[in-house]
Amino acid sequence: MAISTRNGPSLAALEACPPEVREILQAAMSGPELTFEQGLVLATADDSALQALVAVADHLRDATVGDAITYVVNRNINFTNVCFVGCSFCGFGRGPGAADAYSLSFEEMVRRAQEAWDRGATEVCIQGGLPRDLDGFFYRDLLRAIKRALPAMHVHAFSPGGALGGDHHRGARTGHSHHFHDDVWPRRRARRLGAAHAASSRDSKTHWWIYGVRSIGIHP
Ligand code: SF4
Repeated sequence: MAISTRNGPSLAALEACPPEVREILQAAMSGPELTFEQGLVLATADDSALQALVAVADHLRDATVGDAITYVVNRNINFTNVCFVGCSFCGFGRGPGAADAYSLSFEEMVRRAQEAWDRGATEVCIQGGLPRDLDGFFYRDLLRAIKRALPAMHVHAFSPGGALGGDHHRGARTGHSHHFHDDVWPRRRARRLGAAHAASSRDSKTHWWIYGVRSIGIHP
């Protein structure tokens, strides 16, 4: 990819950075995926190399999507921090008896969603831990409560583990499962979970997560 003449800083920053970094950045602009080693060089870039990296990233953003930036006003609502899974990387989950364990009622979840709506939010991102004793219809009923109060609110909700857990409990009672929400599993979280689980020594959790993604049919 040629460097845009309208994006002068990219060219200037590239010329000023170390040759080995320039070579990698030029490779990145020409399309093919970088190697791990090349990525590591960029991940540890500083000074003029970092400035070139930022300039090239800005150039690629401009070339890909232009200058229009879109966003949604969103509120994250965590319905509970109680979780039995125990991922090694997690600083959020608590045992049910922990002093700072909490679980929000549907009323409080709806109140927070309403508060967000009143302040201009169009989306709520709903996630939480996985308590062992969660009702099989908790996820459905929570989504219904929010949609009943705020039909136009986009609901971006649940982790693979949460969706799978809810699906498991529902399946035990109904023999089938459903999607009840607008957007299953915030994608960034799914990717982060996938990477973290893949790095974990607990292979069963990796398989559990992959099973969740595949069986419910969402591919992050
Ligand atoms: S499932 Fe989520 S909340 Fe539970 S331990 Fe893992 S990352 Fe933490």
